Amino acid sequence: MRSLDAFADDKLAALDTKSLRRRLTPTRRHDGAVVERDGKRLVSFSCNDYLNLSQHPLVRAAAAEAALNYGAGAAASRLVTGDHPLLSDLEKRLARLKGAEAACVFGSGYLANTGVIPTLVGPGDVVLIDALAHACIWAGAQLSGAKVIKFAHNDPADLERLLLSERGKARHAMVATDGVFSMDGDIAPLDVLSDLCERHDAWLLSDDAHGVGVLAGGRGSGALFPNAKIPLQMGTLSKALGSYGGYLCGSQAVVDLLKTRARTLVYATGLPPASVAAALAALDLIEADPTITKAPLAKARLFTQRLGLPEACSSIVPVVLGSAESALAASASLQDQGFLVVAIRPPTVPEGTARLRVAFSAAHDDTDVIRLVDAIAELRGAGS
Ligand SMILES: *Cc1c(COP(=O)(O)O)cnc(C)c1O
Repeated sequence: MRSLDAFADDKLAALDTKSLRRRLTPTRRHDGAVVERDGKRLVSFSCNDYLNLSQHPLVRAAAAEAALNYGAGAAASRLVTGDHPLLSDLEKRLARLKGAEAACVFGSGYLANTGVIPTLVGPGDVVLIDALAHACIWAGAQLSGAKVIKFAHNDPADLERLLLSERGKARHAMVATDGVFSMDGDIAPLDVLSDLCERHDAWLLSDDAHGVGVLAGGRGSGALFPNAKIPLQMGTLSKALGSYGGYLCGSQAVVDLLKTRARTLVYATGLPPASVAAALAALDLIEADPTITKAPLAKARLFTQRLGLPEACSSIVPVVLGSAESALAASASLQDQGFLVVAIRPPTVPEGTARLRVAFSAAHDDTDVIRLVDAIAELRGAGS
């Protein structure tokens, strides 16, 4: 189809002129934080494998053994024949970790949010979303058909103003936020949001993709706020847990409803047994020694302290540079010095806030962190 290819070519050319075209780069991971690209080895500060558990011998062995014993794929939706017995073990373990009654595992974190939100809200309802929340929360809310409203980032006063004007018009209300923000590394004020939600009868959904396994001994950002009530605790198995998949922890009633109605569970194939077994092995390691969860934050704090940035509160630290070009140039310069720190550009982050997103993991040595601090300090000096 000539019009189809012309459309794609035009789109790509327009993105190229704005430095917003993205390209895939085949990347192999090696031991520790080392990755290999184009035959070159780099110390990666761009992996979300915060505890390096995807590389752990026991996690790998669990995945390999499950694949050998049970097969490479799940063969069907969980509601047909894809509900492997390991999944109910995993759901019990996740619910326990999160202090919830029950859990529902999905094919990915993206599929969790795009399944959960439309199951719970629809036309006539309202979803209020933090301005910097993850793309899959927005996608889930759009799919639901509910009215979607953005509140200012980490600004409970703005949320309250919107609840006062919107809540009365809607049948049900949901408030959705990242627990740890994926591109900024800051943490939502879940205690204050929880109070507001209680007062206005709104359902709080917190996406803890970057908190689980890292904060509060692995229990995640919600556990930093013991008085917060978070009825919908979503997260991923794909980051600190070193595997693949997503989950929602909540009440038994909510989980039972998801298992019968969430379209991304009903109409998608179940998680491969290897991914389930790997996540279980990762949870075993965290439970056996919760101190392993402390390393990413400790490395991030070493970085922010040495660079004179505000103290890190998670494993993610943004170094905001502004234009997409400057972020790409900084990333390229770091790559020449042996570091992989991927530049993050719009639309992933707001216009004018392109950045280096630095992610810390248990695999980094302090010397790696300090070498990166020196390299970034030099870049910032040169740019100012
Ligand atoms: C990565 C991420 C997701 C998606 O999880 P996957 O398991 O990778 O699909 C959802 N929410 C946030 C905040 C994330 O960073």
